[in-house]
Amino acid sequence: MSGPTPFNDRDGFIWLDGKMVPWREANVHILTHALHYGSAVFEGVRAYGGEPFKLSEHSQRLKDSAQILDFEVPYSVAEIDQICRDVIAANKLSDCYVRPIAYRGSEQIGISAQATKIHLSVSAWEWGSYFPMEQRLKGIRLTMAKYRRPDPATAPSKSKAAGLYMICTVEKHRAEKAGYADALMLDWRGRVAECTGANVFLVKDGVIHTPEPDCFLDGITRRTVIGLAKKRGYQVIERAIMADELKDFSEVFLTGTAAEVTPVSEIGEHKYKPGQISETLLNDYMAMVQPSRKAAE
Ligand code: PMP
Repeated sequence: MSGPTPFNDRDGFIWLDGKMVPWREANVHILTHALHYGSAVFEGVRAYGGEPFKLSEHSQRLKDSAQILDFEVPYSVAEIDQICRDVIAANKLSDCYVRPIAYRGSEQIGISAQATKIHLSVSAWEWGSYFPMEQRLKGIRLTMAKYRRPDPATAPSKSKAAGLYMICTVEKHRAEKAGYADALMLDWRGRVAECTGANVFLVKDGVIHTPEPDCFLDGITRRTVIGLAKKRGYQVIERAIMADELKDFSEVFLTGTAAEVTPVSEIGEHKYKPGQISETLLNDYMAMVQPSRKAAE
């Protein structure tokens, strides 16, 4: 049985340091600082009908993420935006995922990396639902992660830094091996934080609660969905949510560029029923990102 096409062996073009290069030739040297020391920041953007959603916010976050890791992306937000659009066009993509990454090169290998060149690359590929749609409306099953989101005094938690995903991959694997779709992570204080690649919202008595993003990514989708919820007249409370409150909620859903809005049916021993609020916001979000299409059917 053959697996999915590996990411290094595809047709198409990848933008790398100012040039559109054939997909298979977009390589880095083994002595690249980012590979050894995690000096890379990235973005995940979704395009709908060829139009990247909230593109400039992603490009700005890429630059901010780099600054937090003490380097500067050598392109402006407008330039990064244009590169993303060029990559979508060069690959003749419509509904796709766009992956910009900025990273330190190979001029210096060691803790000090002042002499390294900063590289930028943008790839894009066709990508459907992160969690399949039919599964999505039934709600996905989550387990509790063992690793916790670190204290901002311990890690650069506001940066979408490659290194912060080390514990996410471990937890996603642990969840998948146990038959779950994903894992819910607490933070260093034992508060509910987020999933391995998405933010979390919880509903109680018609009110939407979501953790304050003080040690994890304040997702662009999270902010978009808070706006959509408020427009519908729902109350949204950003606050500290303790793990022992998980039993008190009736609906739970995740948000993220990849996950979009994904209802949750289970977190460990707790069961939820994807209901009216999750469904309304899922539909509102899909209608917003896909203005030319009918909202999620
Ligand atoms: N948290 C983590 C750890 C993520 O990887 C993502 C996806 N980028 C999110 C939250 C959601 O962020 P956004 O809505 O900006 O995609």
